Amino acid sequence: MNILELKDLCNANYKKCISLLENKGSLKTVHDLLIKVSEQLLTIGQIAPGDRAIANKRAVKVFNVARSINKDSSYDDIYFALTGSYLPQEIEETEAEETEIKEEKVSKVVENKNVSRSPVGEIKNPLRPLQLSDYIGQDDCKVQLGNAIKAARLRGTPLKHIILFGNAGLGKTTLSRIIANEMGSGFVEMNGPAIRDVQSFVNIFSKVNEGDVVFIDEIHRLPTVCAEAIYSAMEDYRISYMAKNPNTGESENITVNLPRFTLVGATTHSGMLAKPLLDRFVHQFHLKPYTDEDISKIVVKSFSKLNLECSTMCAMEIAKRSRGIPRKANAFVEQFSDKALLDGTTIIDFEMITSFFDQLKINEDGLDSFDMDYLETLNDKYGGGPVGLETLCSCLSIDKNIVENQIEPYLLFKGLLKVSSGGRELSASGVEYVNNLRKKASKENNKNYFVSLLEDHQYEKLLIALCSMLEGIFKEKYNLEGTFQEMMDVYCENNCDEAMTSLLNKLRMKRNDFVHPNDRDLELEDSEIMECIEYICGLED
Ligand code: ADP
Repeated sequence: MNILELKDLCNANYKKCISLLENKGSLKTVHDLLIKVSEQLLTIGQIAPGDRAIANKRAVKVFNVARSINKDSSYDDIYFALTGSYLPQEIEETEAEETEIKEEKVSKVVENKNVSRSPVGEIKNPLRPLQLSDYIGQDDCKVQLGNAIKAARLRGTPLKHIILFGNAGLGKTTLSRIIANEMGSGFVEMNGPAIRDVQSFVNIFSKVNEGDVVFIDEIHRLPTVCAEAIYSAMEDYRISYMAKNPNTGESENITVNLPRFTLVGATTHSGMLAKPLLDRFVHQFHLKPYTDEDISKIVVKSFSKLNLECSTMCAMEIAKRSRGIPRKANAFVEQFSDKALLDGTTIIDFEMITSFFDQLKINEDGLDSFDMDYLETLNDKYGGGPVGLETLCSCLSIDKNIVENQIEPYLLFKGLLKVSSGGRELSASGVEYVNNLRKKASKENNKNYFVSLLEDHQYEKLLIALCSMLEGIFKEKYNLEGTFQEMMDVYCENNCDEAMTSLLNKLRMKRNDFVHPNDRDLELEDSEIMECIEYICGLED
């Protein structure tokens, strides 16, 4: 087996382990596979001396993880030890099961909080910043929040309630943990849709201590009774609710007094919060998509936390494909980290990045094949729009939710799309974008075709094709008229130096009266033909 095959095998075994952990498979198999991976890493180190140091280091790490596995080990801990990140929690659950799982998580957080109190340490996700100074971008929000934290500390009172608006992955949870950290307080976390009734809501609040940060994610999905109960909790630190007395069976009003806390609500749908609830948040922050510069800083930091090196230029390539979302950028970082581990390197280079994104079919503006289908369908089938969302979705055969939540926000952000009461419509730059990509693709196709003719030594066909393309460009782009020779003369006089003029003329003469390129009196080398191909294809821009 050669080194590449061995690396592939090692890669496949490692991936199998990850998939077993994600799907709660056999721990014994995970153990055995990890032992194999560590042995394979050691062999890679022996065969490739350049990779030895890193391969040995990884082998030791994987071996230690394997050795630590026993029947009581948790999937989450093994996954974390291997990847440095959290095991994805929600796979596919029914609504009811999902709710139960989330509730369990809530109570776990509360339990943990009571065992180990503030400051909030983020051990599960090493990429999450813990201090405001490490939180990149969102400058306006950081300044205001920083001031509010300083004032609250001086006063010795909890921060006023905060609401964070922003799409998924922009850093709402991270910021709320940072707030707890900076205030030196405990952190209690819950998820709006996971709260089933007011009683479970009250149960969670009963564990909150003075000054704690209570984070409610997706607060717009709290059941109405809880959203109403929270008004008095926020204002008077008291929850009143109706419950059945177990002795009498009668409904009665119960009031629970709470310690002073800071509520941090997060929502992706600012328009879905009732006004009275919204008004009770003193601080309201809108997190916006990040600039490529800010994302590239996050990428460099994340790589360095994983002991990997990535230049600013390479980080920028990842940033450009991250759609302004730190979570997406960090997901790429994790994937590159796996790749680096298996390639036995600690350096993320340009080639690794471009080949990875080419495989995923993500272009340098961050658009993937779904986005391109969306834009092209809107352009080709509906003349750029406007067209109704439902019609567009059924034409694309993509679920409306995916279109609305995953495809359109980024196209809107890029200014390629307009949404109005009439439906979806390409903006002027959207139309230009589609046309440019088409031109680029056809230019690449043309070039590939010419190069393949050259490689196959089909000179006659190639010269005819090149010259007719040139002729077309003279007429359409430069508005020239007359015979090919006349157009060539005018064009060359205005645009070409002597060398290029002579080269293009050689090409023309060869075509007009086809002579083999290597004919002595009119020699045209393959390298010169290649130069003509590059030049003529470049004229299309
Ligand atoms: P949300 O709660 O808005 O869905 P998260 O807070 O979970 O998003 O952030 C997703 C990931 O992105 C986190 O793991 C964190 O590491 C990273 N992240 C988010 N915002 C920032 C930031 N401003 N600076 C550095 N990393 C960030």
